[in-house]
Amino acid sequence: MKICVFCGSSTGNSEIFKTEAIKLANYFADNDISLVYGGANVGIMKVIADTMLGKNKEVIGIMPQHLIDKEVAHFGISEMIVVDSMAERKEKMVDLSDAFIALPGGFGTLDELSEILTFNQLRITDKPLGILNVNGFFDYLIKFFDHAVESGYVREEHRNNIIIDTDVDNLLKRMKAYKPLSMGKWIEDIVEEAKNGDKEI
Ligand code: AMP
Repeated sequence: MKICVFCGSSTGNSEIFKTEAIKLANYFADNDISLVYGGANVGIMKVIADTMLGKNKEVIGIMPQHLIDKEVAHFGISEMIVVDSMAERKEKMVDLSDAFIALPGGFGTLDELSEILTFNQLRITDKPLGILNVNGFFDYLIKFFDHAVESGYVREEHRNNIIIDTDVDNLLKRMKAYKPLSMGKWIEDIVEEAKNGDKEI
């Protein structure tokens, strides 16, 4: 099994971010899970990759050439897949991986996480997405998810499809039990809503 981890190219300013990334890598190593990630040799990305490599576990990096040229690539990993663009990188991450986990990070992490949220919503993929909410890091984003539901922009079932946990073991246990959402009739509902909206105008 391969799990793709989205995480910071920085380490963050608290030791706990590192500690939890190491915990996750150890879980992967102990359960024969390969790591797919952005391929960098910096930040939490490096921490998780190095922990896996220290236990002789498979680490697959996916990186656009322009980032390799900036010398942030990790040259000690099992395999580096070089792509032409950030968009192609995400596509490869999605193709290769059975599941996704977001750890604390910045805009890059948010971008990757959002891609899976949207793909799962549209059923382009139906793979589990977990968020490890280390030290309340994602509290504001989770508030946004709930606010978006309350405001009528996100369907409750899509919001509830995101697996959020503060504990590595629990998160992985819940991800294993993941059942893909059926498409339901939400696209039909949206079309109907649009038609009614037109009538009101
Ligand atoms: P960020 O959260 O902004 O630090 O970005 C980290 C995420 O975006 C990772 O999951 C990477 O796939 C990608 N990324 C952003 N910056 C870099 C970088 N300098 N090197 C490699 N990957 C990066």
